[in-house]
Amino acid sequence: MNQVCIRFYAELNDFLPTARRQKTFAHSFEGRVSIKHLIESLGVPHPEVDLVLVNGRSVDFSYIVQDGDRISVYPVFESLNIAPLVRVRPQPLREPRFVLDTHLGRLAAYLRMLGIDTVYRNDFADEELAQISSQEGRILLTRDRGLLKRNQVTHGYCVRGTNPRHQLVGVLRRFDLFQMVAPFTRCIRCNGILQPVSKQAISHRLEPKTRQYYDEFRICHACDQIYWKGSHYERMQQFIDNVLAQEA
Ligand SMILES: [Zn+2]
Repeated sequence: MNQVCIRFYAELNDFLPTARRQKTFAHSFEGRVSIKHLIESLGVPHPEVDLVLVNGRSVDFSYIVQDGDRISVYPVFESLNIAPLVRVRPQPLREPRFVLDTHLGRLAAYLRMLGIDTVYRNDFADEELAQISSQEGRILLTRDRGLLKRNQVTHGYCVRGTNPRHQLVGVLRRFDLFQMVAPFTRCIRCNGILQPVSKQAISHRLEPKTRQYYDEFRICHACDQIYWKGSHYERMQQFIDNVLAQEA
């Protein structure tokens, strides 16, 4: 039987039982175990982890845990520069793109509203989600830890809470997206890019009142949906202002 002392930092504690949070605890295991496996056996999905120190030195996920190791596990650092150390994951994705689990429809709509590239369908199977994440380099957002533990998934995040607005703020913070948002540039329905279109070109598709009161339109080149700054626009703008005010 081997024993190690291990501590998880910051939001990684969300995955631990209360008695193990914010403190060093002893953990026993048998046989030859990688640090990745050990961390996941304690309930923390590996895509959440960005840095592992063993006896003060950074290691990658393949490290085989030794009896007596002292282990510190850190989540992704957004501001702290840890470049000289070994990050356990591949390079962070420069322009974050996402694929969302089928239960996160509202969050998907919000992310698209902010112009963030978001693949979502309400009928994707777990396997498809993992595959899209891996093949397209998309960060997998889910509340299902089992899904995040799949080997194929290298970039993922376990969405906290069930309130879509809080989920949105959490995702913006975790991936440092506040400066990257571009509201009303993406189709909420299909994730396509919106482009300006002349009123003349789509006039025949408008309701008489819309035609009367609005002159600026955008169209989704993927699904042909037309957008304009109607009554819903102000509510959305207010929602966005509120969300972006929570950057700190
Ligand atoms: Zn569209």
